[in-house]
Amino acid sequence: MRLVLVGGGHAHLIVLEALAERRDATLDVTLVTPSRWQYYSGMLPGWIMGRYGEDDCRVDLHPLASRAGANLVLGRVVAMNADRNLLCLQDGRHLEYDLLSLDTGSETNVEWLASLSERLLTVKPVEQFFALWQEVVNPLTARPCPSIVVVGGGAAGAELSIAVKSALSAADGKCSVTLVAGNSGLLSGHNPVVRRRMQSALDAAGIRVLRERAAGVEDGVLLPGGELVKADLVIAATGARPSAFLAQSRLALSDDGFVAVDSFHRSLSHPNVFAAGDVSTRLDGATTRSGVHAVRAGPILAHNLIAATRSLPLRPYRPRRRSLYLIVSGPDKAIVSWGDLGAAGRWARLWKDRIDRNFIKRFHRGERDRVSRMQEFFAVALQRSIVASALRISLFVGTVLNLINQGGAVLSGDAPSWPHIVLNYAVPYCVATYSAVLIEMKRMGE
Ligand SMILES: Cc1cc2nc3c(=O)[nH]c(=O)nc-3n(C[C@H](O)[C@H](O)[C@H](O)COP(=O)(O)OP(=O)(O)OC[C@H]3O[C@@H](n4cnc5c(N)ncnc54)[C@H](O)[C@@H]3O)c2cc1C
Repeated sequence: MRLVLVGGGHAHLIVLEALAERRDATLDVTLVTPSRWQYYSGMLPGWIMGRYGEDDCRVDLHPLASRAGANLVLGRVVAMNADRNLLCLQDGRHLEYDLLSLDTGSETNVEWLASLSERLLTVKPVEQFFALWQEVVNPLTARPCPSIVVVGGGAAGAELSIAVKSALSAADGKCSVTLVAGNSGLLSGHNPVVRRRMQSALDAAGIRVLRERAAGVEDGVLLPGGELVKADLVIAATGARPSAFLAQSRLALSDDGFVAVDSFHRSLSHPNVFAAGDVSTRLDGATTRSGVHAVRAGPILAHNLIAATRSLPLRPYRPRRRSLYLIVSGPDKAIVSWGDLGAAGRWARLWKDRIDRNFIKRFHRGERDRVSRMQEFFAVALQRSIVASALRISLFVGTVLNLINQGGAVLSGDAPSWPHIVLNYAVPYCVATYSAVLIEMKRMGE
């Protein structure tokens, strides 16, 4: 059975981990995702402030896929037809599946900011933000007092304002950061204690907070009252919008265009399609879009995918009544939000740091250990294309060597040396495989 996982998101990290623990030879698993790196958005503010290096914030999907026995296809799905079990990738490749799981996250909704063109930086896709931030930050610090506007009043917008202000102030002293939080204000999904704490943190950092909706114009954002906030850079951490390929996918979608799923995270229209994380909307309203739910739904998704291949009963994902959120409120401070409770301090930052680092470490486990490198090596060595090309080389080189070494003996009627004949084929096979695997592993690394 062909199981295709699209997107290396949080839930799929857990699915890959589960598949590695329960290897099933009857399952032909493929992971399709644009990059071998899965970035962890929770560590993005800390990375901007220099607390983490890039490698601290990302998971290498290649060893994870290898351990799960999954074929890693680097590509982006741009179209799908759920009636025909077909996926189309950006580079023109097509993939068929029997069972599909989607964990492709969401995009940033920038409808009303589009006219900013190159002044606009969207927080999603997160891997793109990581790459582009390094390009924009140097020209910004070269300006005498750069002005940055962050749009979005959720946790991501607030954390990014604080991170950017802290990073630019540390680099060159002066900069202005404005947070446009929209009509619903700051951290609208959190309790009043958390909202107050965040407001104080923003005030202490000297960040202006506007509770209005702004429209993007050529050189900044325009407020409803007519005030123009000029910006050298506008960072959009606005609401989520679905990836374009879902619209024509034939899957049942929610009103806002995401994959409509039941409590088992199974598509309401196609029983062989599952979806978790930001790409999905639970029609019972049990979850919101957050990393917490993407991670927690992971084990259930893993169970249900395996159960679906064996016609076993599925399990529902029942979110906890309250979820814990740790929101960065300064270089070494964080706010804890849990239901109606809120607290803040350095201890909360250390707690967040520990949770985040452990999350990444969990998937790096064994990455550097020799056994897993060997497993990875053999998994690549057994790829059909590598075996076929090594066989061709061995057949050609081995035959030539045998003609040279054994031809005389055969022609003069003596018995050939069978160990030499075998070696003449085996050595070129091993050399060809070894070099092809090294090249492939290097290519995957890049
Ligand atoms: C700055 C910031 C801080 C945040 N902090 C928190 C936090 O502390 N707690 C919390 O709960 N939430 C937090 N969030 C929200 C959280 O990031 C998302 O809810 C979470 O990433 C969703 O996970 P996911 O698995 O759905 O998708 P993602 O983690 O976005 O992963 C999607 C994957 O799919 C791949 N992909 C995308 N499109 C395609 C395609 N067409 N074909 C193939 N592959 C594709 C991507 O490359 C990626 O690998 C934060 C968000 C931001 C921006």
